[in-house]
Amino acid sequence: MCEVFNAATKPYRCKPVLTLLEEVRRYAMTSMARNKLKLSSHVGHLPPIQQSRLAKERYYSRYHTPMWSGDAAEVMFEVNGEPHNVVVNLGNQTCSCRFWQLSGLPCRRAITAISVMNGRPENYVHAWLTMGSDVG
Ligand SMILES: [Zn+2]
Repeated sequence: MCEVFNAATKPYRCKPVLTLLEEVRRYAMTSMARNKLKLSSHVGHLPPIQQSRLAKERYYSRYHTPMWSGDAAEVMFEVNGEPHNVVVNLGNQTCSCRFWQLSGLPCRRAITAISVMNGRPENYVHAWLTMGSDVG
């Protein structure tokens, strides 16, 4: 992404700083408009990139086994993993590997815990990553 941005702004680097900033603003505006147009006809809870990232995590979730910790709310799990086991809290939407907190997508170990509870991983994705119109 940085390389694409650098290549797009390269012709304007020799310009005065206000002209450069105006071109950067124009580049960002057209890029966002182009992406919005691409997604305007998309149907689904998640945009295509987030859907494919979640599908990858879901694929690798088959290699993990969750163990319910016995809490009353039924949200705490210990999941085997490499190099160590992790703790998944479905209530807070956290995992001790920190992938979920950093990316907004449940990690492969959290997906195993969600699946055990008969949940859908799409419903545990952060609202900013969804196609929902109520965010904003
Ligand atoms: Zn995790």
